[in-house]
Formats: sequence, structure tokens, C-alpha cells
Amino acid sequence: MIKAAVIGWPINHSKSPLIHGYWLANAGILGSYEAIGIAPETFEAGINNLVLQGYAGCNVTIPHKETALQMADSVSDRAQAIGAANTLVFKGGKIFADNTDGIGFINNLKQGAPNWHASAGTALVLGAGGAARAIVYALLQEGTPKVIIANRTLEKATILSDFFGDKVSAISIDKVQETLGEVQTLVNTTALGMTGQPKLIIDISSLPKSALVTDIVYNPLMTDLLKQAQNLGLLTVDGLGMLLHQAVPGFEAWFGVRPVVDAGLRQKVLAG
Ligand code: NAP
Repeated sequence: MIKAAVIGWPINHSKSPLIHGYWLANAGILGSYEAIGIAPETFEAGINNLVLQGYAGCNVTIPHKETALQMADSVSDRAQAIGAANTLVFKGGKIFADNTDGIGFINNLKQGAPNWHASAGTALVLGAGGAARAIVYALLQEGTPKVIIANRTLEKATILSDFFGDKVSAISIDKVQETLGEVQTLVNTTALGMTGQPKLIIDISSLPKSALVTDIVYNPLMTDLLKQAQNLGLLTVDGLGMLLHQAVPGFEAWFGVRPVVDAGLRQKVLAG
């Protein structure tokens, strides 16, 4: 039996067992995927223990993503650039670390808006946290010519833009209005708009009619930002698909089958 897991602290909130459980059942694979809570001080020992127990690998989530990268024997280019890992694959007693958040974000847009192209024009990314870093990296990889990062704490946006180079610039989040006219892809990566968090207050009416708006917050699924975009007749993609698509590479590496993100999976995760 092939075993995988998601490791976090706390871990009860994780949707990953639902996602992988759905794919395991659909593919008829004799495998398991469980949620395991491991505290930061015992993280490395916990991972080494999974390796010894014959696990194929695991997902790692908050607060372990940076430590996971550091303890790996080898690392993908994208995990290195993002500075964090969310997917570990164990082979021959060695640990390989990957980060699939960025590719999950891109594949969600490709599925939800098949005519969208990263290369169509400027992207405006609201937020400069861990998710923003993965998304800026992925947008650049996909050919986005210019990325503007807007954040409440300007210094964090500047650190990211300096890291990614000439195509990326940083502004304070209260200056976004001045940029909207040139934006083809607008992404909210802040926690704003999430249930229990303050609202994201932004007027996006000056976006071009060809712009796509996406929010990686998926609780609620239809955020105020997405509602506003829909009312303006803009293309929208919700954030749940990013969570689902980021899980694909791990499942394929551990269980040997490339799973599909379909309507049944969305329903299962929304109901769970
Ligand atoms: P993070 O590293 O903690 O970054 C949080 C970001 O939100 C920062 O840019 C922060 O700005 C901003 N922010 C938080 N509260 C704010 C406020 N009151 N006003 C203005 N800005 C505020 O978090 P993360 O890991 O990047 O995750 C961000 C969000 O994305 C979370 O809601 C998370 O659930 C969601 N997410 C979704 C997926 C998915 O698969 N759909 C994947 C990853 C994350 P400062 O720098 O100024 O603090």
C-alpha cells in the first residue's frame, strides 16, 4: 500500500485528505493519504520518521514550508526560487522538495479561462506574502511581460520585486487605482475578503474589458472582488481550483497516476 500525508501545525483544517482521497477512490488505488500534525520543533524528526516508515512523500503546509525546503536533499528550480516547499517526494531514503502552488495557480486559470494567456499583458498582484511569491514566479515563467506587486507593507513588495528583477515593480496597495488601466490579470493574494478578515476595498471599474480577475481566497468562493468583476462583465476564476491543481503533481509522483481536477472533486471539497 502506498502511503502519503499532509503535515502541518495545526492540521485539522486541511482539505488535502479530501482531495487525495477522492482521487485514490476514483483511480481504485490501494493507497492512503492522512493528515498528520507535527509541531515545528519536531518537524525534521517527523519527516525522517515518515521516510523510515516507507511513505512515498507528503505535502507540507503552514508553518513548515521553509524548513521542508532546507532539509531536502534535492530541490526543484521552482521551489528554490519560491523559497518554500509544499510537496516532498521520498525515494531511496532521500527527500526531493517541490513547490506546486504557482503551477496550481496557472493551471487553475488555464482550466477556468481557456482563452487567458499570461503573456497578454501586465499582471497586478495584490499582496506580497508566500502565495504572492509563488504566483509572481509562475506568471513570469508563463511569459507575463510585467508584474506589479501592491502591498500594504511596501517594503515586502519591494523585496519581492528586487528578487524577481526588471519585469517586476512594487507599489503601496493604496496606489493600485493608477495602474488598473494597463492590467490584464488581477490577482488577490492577500487574506482580505476571506471570511473573518476585513473586506478588500477596491474599485476595479477602470480595468480593461479584456482583463481577467482571480482571487486565491476561496472562503467564500465568490468573493466581493469576483462579484464586482462579474458585474463589470470581466472574466473571473475563483481560488478553489488553485488548491485542487496544486495537489496534482504530488499525487502523480506518489501514486503514479496523473489525476484530473473535475466538477466532482470541487463538489466534494466544497461539501467537506
Ligand atoms: P501571508 O504570507 O501571511 O501573506 C498575507 C498577505 O496579505 C500579505 O501581503 C499581507 O500584507 C496581506 N494582508 C493581510 N491582512 C491584511 C490587511 N488587513 N490589509 C492589507 N493587507 C493584508 O499569507 P499567504 O500564504 O500569502 O496567503 C494569503 C491568502 O491566500 C490566505 O488567505 C490564504 O488562505 C490564501 N491562499 C490560497 C491558496 C489556494 O490554493 N487558493 C494557496 C495559498 C494561500 P502585509 O505584508 O502588509 O502584512
